Amino acid sequence: MSNYFPAEKFKSIPTPFYFYDMGLLEQTLQKVKSESDKYNFVVHYAIKANANDRILERIREYGMGVDCVSGFEVKKALDMGFPAQGIVFAGVGKADWEIEMGIDNNIACFNVESTAELDVINEIATRKNQKVKVAMRINPNVKANTHKYITTGLDENKFGIHQMDVEKTVDAITKMDFINLEGIHFHIGSQIMDLSSFSALCERVNEIQDWFEEKGIALKTINVGGGLGIDYNKPAENPIPDFENYFRIFSEGIKLRPGQEIHFELGRSVVGQCGNLISKVLYVKEGVKTNFAIIDGGMTDLIRPALYQAYHKIENITSNGSEEKYDVVGPICESSDSFGKDIELPKTSRGDLMAIRSAGAYGEVMVSRYNLREEPKAYYSDQL
Ligand SMILES: *Cc1c(COP(=O)(O)O)cnc(C)c1O
Repeated sequence: MSNYFPAEKFKSIPTPFYFYDMGLLEQTLQKVKSESDKYNFVVHYAIKANANDRILERIREYGMGVDCVSGFEVKKALDMGFPAQGIVFAGVGKADWEIEMGIDNNIACFNVESTAELDVINEIATRKNQKVKVAMRINPNVKANTHKYITTGLDENKFGIHQMDVEKTVDAITKMDFINLEGIHFHIGSQIMDLSSFSALCERVNEIQDWFEEKGIALKTINVGGGLGIDYNKPAENPIPDFENYFRIFSEGIKLRPGQEIHFELGRSVVGQCGNLISKVLYVKEGVKTNFAIIDGGMTDLIRPALYQAYHKIENITSNGSEEKYDVVGPICESSDSFGKDIELPKTSRGDLMAIRSAGAYGEVMVSRYNLREEPKAYYSDQL
């Protein structure tokens, strides 16, 4: 049983639902701010991780910018009152209307991922007679020790401009009247726990910077993306990621030129630990090998285990019986709708409440209505 959750209060709320610990979000944001302020780093929040209004309001209070990967994310950020001048827009496939919208709202920067995209931005910018700031997203071919579906900085990934094509792209930009090259952008992957991947990125950034310098091109911003991981195994022990060492690595690792800024795009590390999916046990079904604890939350509410084979810690927050093993599964008609196999839990019975931890990032935003299920609602620790 866990004292962390107000289980008594949960009993009157229809399950499944998201529960956000707003105190933890606040502490996390304070830490991001204090550690990044040490070096005057600029932090953009990657809104794709969680676009819940109350979460965004808190983040906005900390003065962060926003990293968007779709036109609707740009719109959401603007609607939530984030200044356009703090919005950056990445993504391998930006539709014309998305580019137009970014230009019309005067966002800070487009992180461009191909010369084909640059051509379109230039065409639209020329038509609108408006200068557009871009950063080149360069694929640094740095391996992030993470799941293959969430590594993005390798040659074989679809993201970014290949190093081989950098020169060609720079030459093209030079000829474009309405494109200003602001800087370079990287994002090597997500859920990176081994900080040496970031040191490797720093080295690559320095090499690339040297190349730009030789070409006589001054870069104003170095955007190193996001990717800092969270401790899914021990959310209670490690609720706040190691921002101190993370930012220190970049401050020590990147050789900044005068007037340059380092930008970050943090998603998961900001919001991951403050969210939980709370679900009720419908039945315990005796299986051949283990017992199944069948809960009312499923992959439609939290898809990460089904999509990336991701691990989330599961806690029974209402039982303190002796430990037994269970496969915890959802009700959706897919075998991948499973939250964990052979999980040790206190003796579990119908009506118990389960907390699936560390679900604040890539949880609520990925909810679907498959099986025509209703979307889970969100509740907040400061409003219960
Ligand atoms: C997803 C994404 C991020 C955020 O990644 P996290 O692992 O959640 O920190 C940052 N930048 C870009 C371009 C992204 O696509």
